[in-house]
Amino acid sequence: MTLPFLPFTRPVIDEATIAAVGEVLRSGWITTGPKAREFESRLSAYFGGRPVRALASGTGALELALEVIGIRPGDEVVTTPLSWVATGNTIVRAGARPVFVDVDPATRNIDLARAERAVTERTRAIVPVDLAGLPVDRDRLYALAGARGLRVIEDAAQSMGASWRGRRIGSFGDLVALSFHANKNMTTAEGGCLVVNDAAEAELVECLRLQGVVRSPDGEQEVERAGAKHNLTDVAAAIGLGQLDRLEEFTARRRVLARRYFERFDRALGCGLPPEDFENANWHMFQILLPLERMTIGRGEVIRRLHAAGIGSGVHYPAMHLFRLYRAMGYGPGRFPHAERIGAAILTLPLFPAMAEADVDRVCGAVHDILRAHAR
Ligand SMILES: *Cc1c(COP(=O)(O)O)cnc(C)c1O
Repeated sequence: MTLPFLPFTRPVIDEATIAAVGEVLRSGWITTGPKAREFESRLSAYFGGRPVRALASGTGALELALEVIGIRPGDEVVTTPLSWVATGNTIVRAGARPVFVDVDPATRNIDLARAERAVTERTRAIVPVDLAGLPVDRDRLYALAGARGLRVIEDAAQSMGASWRGRRIGSFGDLVALSFHANKNMTTAEGGCLVVNDAAEAELVECLRLQGVVRSPDGEQEVERAGAKHNLTDVAAAIGLGQLDRLEEFTARRRVLARRYFERFDRALGCGLPPEDFENANWHMFQILLPLERMTIGRGEVIRRLHAAGIGSGVHYPAMHLFRLYRAMGYGPGRFPHAERIGAAILTLPLFPAMAEADVDRVCGAVHDILRAHAR
C-alpha cells in the first residue's frame, strides 16, 4: 500500500470558507470592500484593539512599515540573516542598508546582544524575525530599542497565534508585520497585515496601500505621496475570516504534533532539534538541523530520498547574506557562522493542522532510516 504524498505544509480551508468566498464572487464586489473592512476589524479585536490595516502581503506590510517610520537612503536597519529574503529585500528597496548580525544558535533568532553592538548613529530600526513562530525575547528587544532610541518592525510573518509571556504577538510593541501567505499559520492565499500604534499611522498605511490617494469627506481626491498597491481583496478577506475563526484550534493542533515529534525523534542520530517551547511558539514549522558531519550524503539527497518516500520537506532558509545581492554589499562567508551553519543544515519537516499523529511517526521513521543508512 502506498501512502498519499505528505507535503511539508498544506492550508486547511473548510467548506464554510469556500461558501463565503463563493458569496463574495457572486456579490458583484470582489476587491477591497466590506469583507476586507470586516477582516480588519476582526484582526484588530484579535490584537487587543490595536489599529490594523489588511494588506496584499507580508512583504507589503514590511515595506509600508519602513515607510511609516521614515526609513531613508543612508539609514541602517539591524536584522537577522536567517529569514526569508523579504526581510532583507524590503530594507534594500527602501534604500537603507540591512545590517545583519548573527543568530543565537539555541533559538536560531537574532542574537540581541550582537544586535546591540551593531547599533551606530545611523541605525534607525531593528527588524527581528520569529523564525518558525518562536518569538524573539520581547522584553530584551524592547529594552534594547528603548535604550538606543530605535523603532522596531517585528517581522512576525510566521508568528500568527504565537505569544510572549501570555500576550499575543501583535497585541503589544511597536509596528508588527504579519503574513497570510498560503504556507503561514492562517492564510488568505496571499495577504498580510500591519499592526500600528495609533490612528495617524493607520491613516498613513491606508493612504500608502492604495496609490497615496486621500479622499476628503465630500469625495474630492488628493495625492501628496506616491503610494504603493498593497490592498487586500474581499475574496482574500473572506478566506481570512474563515481562518481566523479556527486559528486557536490550528495552533493547538500544531502543538500536539510538535510534541509528537519530540516524543518520536531519535536523539541519538545527532540532529539538532528546536527549543521545546510550548508556551510562546506557534509551531509554524518543525525544523531539524542535519548532522552533516556524521552523514555520507548531503541535505539535497535527504530531501530527494524523503520525497521518494512520499514526504515533502523544505529549506527555510539559507543564510541570506550569502546571496549575491548581499555579497555585493560586502557580506560573505564566515561573517555569521551560526547562521551559515544552521542555514546549511536546516530541514523543515511536515507540520500542519490536518496531519495525523501517524504522519509524524511516518516522517520520523523515514528520517531515521535515511540517516541510519548513510551514517559515517
Ligand atoms: C512569509 C514571510 C515574509 C513575507 O510574507 P509574504 O506574505 O509572503 O509577502 C516575510 N518574512 C518572513 C519571515 C516570512 O516568513
